[in-house]
Amino acid sequence: MISTPAVLDTCPRCGTPTLVGHSEGLLIRATAGPLDPRGELDALTAGQMTYDVQPLGLPRKPYLIHRNAWRIHADRKYAVVATHKCPPGARAPHFRPDPVPLFIPYGEPIPDQPQF
Ligand SMILES: [Zn+2]
Repeated sequence: MISTPAVLDTCPRCGTPTLVGHSEGLLIRATAGPLDPRGELDALTAGQMTYDVQPLGLPRKPYLIHRNAWRIHADRKYAVVATHKCPPGARAPHFRPDPVPLFIPYGEPIPDQPQF
């Protein structure tokens, strides 16, 4: 089952910015904004699934990891997003920009002039 890094894309039905990527073989369209614990509870009771946005690889790219009961019970380490639901009365956008690959910066940048 493949997992691919999430890219920033727009929903083809409503034009909302979403994170799109494969998570263990399933294509996931998730909200681009993170959820607090209360927002996650609202999403779960509304029937949406939630995902950890976990940085993996070099350079760091965001992967969507399904939050099962173990991950929900444990302490939060990553931003949490839910599957995207289009608002009622959504209209398809006339123009959709290309998906944007995302990179997560980490650590201190290497200086151009090392001090040694
Ligand atoms: Zn939508």
